[in-house]
Amino acid sequence: MSDGLVDSFGRRVNYVRLSVTDRCDFRCVYCMSEEMTFLPRAQVLTLEEIAQVARAFTELGVEKIRLTGGEPLVRRNIGELVTRIGALSGLKDFAMTTNGAGLRRHAVELRQAGLKRLNVSLDSLDPQRFRRLTRTGDLSRVLDGIEAAREAGFERIKLNAVVLKGRNEDEVLDLVTFARNQQLDISFIEEMPLGDVSDHSRAETYCSSDEVRALIEQRHPLLSTAEATAGPSRYFRMEDSDTRIGFISPHSHNFCASCNRVRVTVEGRLLLCLGNEHSVDLRAVLRRYPGDIERLKRAIVEAMPMKPERHHFTTDGDVQVVRFMNMTGG
Ligand code: SAM
Ligand code: SF4
Repeated sequence: MSDGLVDSFGRRVNYVRLSVTDRCDFRCVYCMSEEMTFLPRAQVLTLEEIAQVARAFTELGVEKIRLTGGEPLVRRNIGELVTRIGALSGLKDFAMTTNGAGLRRHAVELRQAGLKRLNVSLDSLDPQRFRRLTRTGDLSRVLDGIEAAREAGFERIKLNAVVLKGRNEDEVLDLVTFARNQQLDISFIEEMPLGDVSDHSRAETYCSSDEVRALIEQRHPLLSTAEATAGPSRYFRMEDSDTRIGFISPHSHNFCASCNRVRVTVEGRLLLCLGNEHSVDLRAVLRRYPGDIERLKRAIVEAMPMKPERHHFTTDGDVQVVRFMNMTGG
């Protein structure tokens, strides 16, 4: 087992995204429907179980863990989990993706607990539009949360913006300006067909990374870089700023060949690919053999050959995967 995790296509898995809750205080239009039913507590992994999963992966050579959800900051005692995972040896990068609304409350605790990096989702700088896109979100809280994270000592905070045509693509340049002024990195994401959203037709709102890039280059020429952060972003720089601009392009620039990651949902389903349903039930192993880390590791190793070669997302608006992003762990 010490050789680490390698799938049938020779890809080494060294990055795990752990979902710590399916719940959220926002209802972003591309992620959830307005009325959501969340999982009953008994189906959700305990913090102890999540920490056990994290340990098993690091013992199998995983060097990067990202906590996500749902909104990780609505999970009770999230600081406790961050402390436990932050203490695992072998972990080189420990990050969280958050909507930012809870950062004023949690940033110092997270930093002290060993979290190294934060991604904050931000799709609009206009309060009313932000509210429309998130259905419940308050922009001022998110901006204050970013400030709190900076005060707590987080460096290189990265913004994530999902770009939807006719909704926020006219704000791409404003978001870049904001990132430059605040010395943040920013990644622009193509919407993925996860879950059936009622708010919009995904075929109509699809905005390719090339279109976003062209909008940015109207003002800022982009220089490609070979930089990678173990994620799917392709990075660019501007000559007059430290801000990096990333593009996450599941449709237009398929990144499956270099995929180094797997996900674990908060129900303990090990998902081998974002765009496929292949999964293994780690919760069953955790609950059948409590505390037996070797069994858990074996289940993870045995799952690797199931990792599909690639996803087959299309832009025609069809739902290819029925689970919503909040269930997947984005
Ligand atoms: N609640 C946290 C947040 O919003 O940052 C973490 C979970 S959220 C599911 C993770 C990321 O997935 C966010 O940046 C969000 O914008 C993105 N996301 C959600 N649904 C998506 C979709 N259908 N296509 C592309 N990105 C999506
Ligand atoms: Fe919540 Fe994040 Fe999904 Fe928005 S993208 S609804 S903040 S989980």
